[in-house]
Amino acid sequence: MQALRALPSVDQVLLSAIGQELVERHGRALVVAAVRARLEAARATIREGVAGAELAADIPLLVAGDLARAARPKLRPVLNLTGTVLHTNLGRAILADAAIEAAMAAMANPLALEFDLDGGGRGQRDDHLRGLLCELTGAEDATVVNNNAAAVLIALNTLGQGREAIVSRGELIEIGGAFRMPDIMTRAGVRLHEVGTTNRTHPRDYEGAIGPETGLILKVHTSNYRIEGFTAEVPAPRLAQIARAAGVPLLNDLGSGSLVDLARFGLRREPTVAEAVAEGADLVTFSGDKLLGGPQAGFLVGRRDLIAAINRNPLKRAVRLDKIRIAALEATLRLYRDPDRLTERLPTLRHLARPQAEIAAQAARLAPRVDAALAPHGFRAGVCDCASQIGSGALPVDTIPSAGLRLTGAGGDAPDRLSARLRALPVPVIGHIHDGALILDLRCLDADEALIGALAAL
Ligand SMILES: *Cc1c(COP(=O)(O)O)cnc(C)c1O
Repeated sequence: MQALRALPSVDQVLLSAIGQELVERHGRALVVAAVRARLEAARATIREGVAGAELAADIPLLVAGDLARAARPKLRPVLNLTGTVLHTNLGRAILADAAIEAAMAAMANPLALEFDLDGGGRGQRDDHLRGLLCELTGAEDATVVNNNAAAVLIALNTLGQGREAIVSRGELIEIGGAFRMPDIMTRAGVRLHEVGTTNRTHPRDYEGAIGPETGLILKVHTSNYRIEGFTAEVPAPRLAQIARAAGVPLLNDLGSGSLVDLARFGLRREPTVAEAVAEGADLVTFSGDKLLGGPQAGFLVGRRDLIAAINRNPLKRAVRLDKIRIAALEATLRLYRDPDRLTERLPTLRHLARPQAEIAAQAARLAPRVDAALAPHGFRAGVCDCASQIGSGALPVDTIPSAGLRLTGAGGDAPDRLSARLRALPVPVIGHIHDGALILDLRCLDADEALIGALAAL
């Protein structure tokens, strides 16, 4: 077969100019494997009679393409233009510069993680955060674990193993994936004692459920839904009274748990962590990478004896934080000491606080440029108003007025086709489909050029 004989050998490809450049960039082992795979595929297509000798000349370029695709990191930055500021599937909070610098220093250097610089003896890794957390929340003591799911797990296990946790039927939440409160309880070794109904739970329901088997009362923030209409829940201060009278601890899982009043930024109030502490909860749990705007982490703040018991629980070691995130968290929490400048310094709050007029001006600036980039591919861009969401279980049904670009094309599948092409870019652009168009909400777009640069690769 003429065409088979025309194919180069592995060595010939390696010695070609392209081949040598590829070895320099990717290393010999990967290039040899990629050349072999391409040659094998070429032989198969020639035998099937679909291709001929022209394949031989293409081999080095095909290999170069294969290697470039394989070298592209799987986990790479995207532009979050979904309108959801804290998008769990896009990694939630973006860190402040101060937190990024602290994390880099922690990665590159030894640090006094569990070493007491004053006395020269052993220290605890939580010590770096305890003081700040107590100052910012008014709690007596604090500790920190891998994420809020772990915080809830270890709190339930420490306070209630082998006994019951009393929870309202209106608060038995499932939050994305496999985190369902009843399942976490089982794994924590705690028996669930449900009280009340889906829409109404009263003080007498809790009081009637308390008995010798009670380990704790649990209150859960209904992060991702809201029960409306004929409803009643027992407010945290009243629940704290009930718990205290019965001599059992009250655990309040806040979920997102903001450290500042969101009303400052024109949003509806969510209970702050300091309020939850002041309302008498014995332990409060919340996330590091939701409204707080830091890296993934779970905080437990509250009574000193309970925090000490949690730190003694063998599970603590299994869910502890690494030095990189402790460094980033310390820097993030420090920013909260100056609340007036938070929106300048914390990307999460900066994005949430951006006024619609500013975003609309950005959309007007970008629309003609995006339209020019898309027109050759059969799509058009115009400005639109849209509605952003906080995401990650904060104010689940509230939206924030925003603005963006409305991208359209011919045919009912145009939004899906365009969405797929933008996802396939080297810097993927993620929007959302609404009403027959692909919407790019610009609330989280810091720089115009980031979008223009990403679209240039179309
Ligand atoms: C988000 C959330 C959690 C889980 O927090 P992670 O930090 O994602 O582990 C637990 N409880 C509530 C109420 C939440 O909203």
